[in-house]
Amino acid sequence: MTLMSHQNVALAENRSAVTNQVFLALGSNLNDPVAQIKQAVQSLSHILRTVKCAHLYQSKPLGPQDQPDFINTVISGYTDLSPNDLLFTIQKIETQQQRVKTRHWGPRTIDIDILFYGDMRMETAELTIPHKELFNRAFVTIPLLDLIPNGITPTGDQIDRNRYDSSTLVRIDT
Ligand code: ADP
Ligand code: MG
Repeated sequence: MTLMSHQNVALAENRSAVTNQVFLALGSNLNDPVAQIKQAVQSLSHILRTVKCAHLYQSKPLGPQDQPDFINTVISGYTDLSPNDLLFTIQKIETQQQRVKTRHWGPRTIDIDILFYGDMRMETAELTIPHKELFNRAFVTIPLLDLIPNGITPTGDQIDRNRYDSSTLVRIDT
């Protein structure tokens, strides 16, 4: 039997040969949000290698206020999955946790967004990376800064902590 090269093994398994560091944003405001986030981190730790998780933060919802507060965090990890396969995989996890789409900016059991995929920039109908709203949301940038304390993103941008009103976020110890 001949040995497959690393690249061929990866191709045979429908993976790219390159491992990329990814950052994902997690949010929940339904059905015990802290448990939802922990469940999603658990599921993602089977998908990604060397998962690191920021603190959990509680904040008021964007948009409609007649819904529970959100719990948000950011995780990082390493994957061989392509961006589209990663999106497909996180959507399966969302479905497993019975996310039912109601209204725009409405309550959800779990939302998992791709913030960064290595230093890649891409824009397709399904996927914009880095995530479009990333820099506009304190509930994303503040947990992200737990994982990148110098504020320099994988795409080389600088997050300025002072630009964000962190008083809108309550860090929760779990
Ligand atoms: P939102 O996250 O905006 O509240 P959804 O989770 O329902 O809403 O996502 C809507 C669509 O956003 C997804 O079907 C996906 O194709 C698209 N999308 C675009 N860029 C990204 C990204 N970086 N991460 C996750 N989804 C994304
Ligand atoms: Mg989403």
